[in-house]
Amino acid sequence: MNTSSINIIFNIIFTSLMLCLTFSLTCQSIKVALFYNKQVTEIFITPYFGSYNIYVNDSLINNTSNSFLIRKINNSLELKILHDSTYICNTIHFKKKDSISALRLKVISPFTTDRYYNDDLYITNVNNNLRIINIVELEKYICGVVESETGYHNNIEYYKIQAILCRTYTLKNLGKHFDEGFNYCDDVHCQSYKGINYSKSSNTLIYEAINSTHNLVIVDTLLNLIDAVYHANCGGQTMNAEDVWNSKRYYLRSIYDPYCKKKRNTLWNKVISLNEFNNFLNDNGFKVNINNEYEFIQMQRRANLKINNESISLRKIREYFNLKSTFFNIKVKNDSVYFEGKGIGHGVGLCQDGAEQMTLEGFTFDNIINFYYKGVKIVDYHNIWLFKE
Ligand SMILES: [Zn+2]
Ligand SMILES: [Zn+2]
Repeated sequence: MNTSSINIIFNIIFTSLMLCLTFSLTCQSIKVALFYNKQVTEIFITPYFGSYNIYVNDSLINNTSNSFLIRKINNSLELKILHDSTYICNTIHFKKKDSISALRLKVISPFTTDRYYNDDLYITNVNNNLRIINIVELEKYICGVVESETGYHNNIEYYKIQAILCRTYTLKNLGKHFDEGFNYCDDVHCQSYKGINYSKSSNTLIYEAINSTHNLVIVDTLLNLIDAVYHANCGGQTMNAEDVWNSKRYYLRSIYDPYCKKKRNTLWNKVISLNEFNNFLNDNGFKVNINNEYEFIQMQRRANLKINNESISLRKIREYFNLKSTFFNIKVKNDSVYFEGKGIGHGVGLCQDGAEQMTLEGFTFDNIINFYYKGVKIVDYHNIWLFKE
């Protein structure tokens, strides 16, 4: 066994034990549909850590092998156990026997690389494709989402912020896929989730961050979970929520952010033809056209572009022309429209680059959350109900 394999196994034991000890008291489970946007017809599953019972149509089966091939057959499923039996059935449930358990999942059709998921898998046939649901403890799910959404940072304080944002979002939106029988899909429509990457060293830091912010969520003055929205880089000023989405939240206010400017250069440019821009304005009800003299300058962020009495939201312009942000100037030269912008994303709530820079300057996760979300509280979510009663 080489050193990297030993490291991986050490990581599995260490991180799983940490999760298990800490979370055994609060085992709320989340149902996540895996490969939600793919039409999966055939998968291969092997227990990777811990042991499992396998239920076919809710009946426990005996098996002597640890390799399972599952594919859709018309409106049913076929389960082939290597060197053992084959079953035709409607449901297959891999139910963990130990609290430290993970499965390796390989999608054969369409082909993907191996992924690893904690806890249970529940498989059915929906619309002639496999519906694979990962039934996973909340905090283990948060580990996977933070890893997938945040990428690699050698920075535990930053992971703590992401863990609290993710936990707040997760508990607030549990009904998002209610009609389909699960809580979340694994795509950016909800939160990106690719299971657990046991081989990455960042994993241990994420677990530590999740441990030390255990159960913490962000609430407003009425003790409701907040809309914990965030974006990559605000360009120096965030946006009011109502200027982007027409719904006001008192804690999603525009603030000046001196921190993200120190992090990376996010200036961007885009050029389109004047004709195209005028057509766009006309399609959106403008009667006037702009010409070579036109200039639109944002010293501070604005919500709309106004010409005479006509107005259009910058968000609409951003979406139509696929711009990185709404924090842009417009200049017109030689029948071309030049967008000169800064920042990446919608600009509402927490600025990830700014937040990370603040951690490097010694601010703690609670300081940073209160800087970007005004007048909120960070509380243990079990206590919300106590305070509310
Ligand atoms: Zn979704
Ligand atoms: Zn910023």
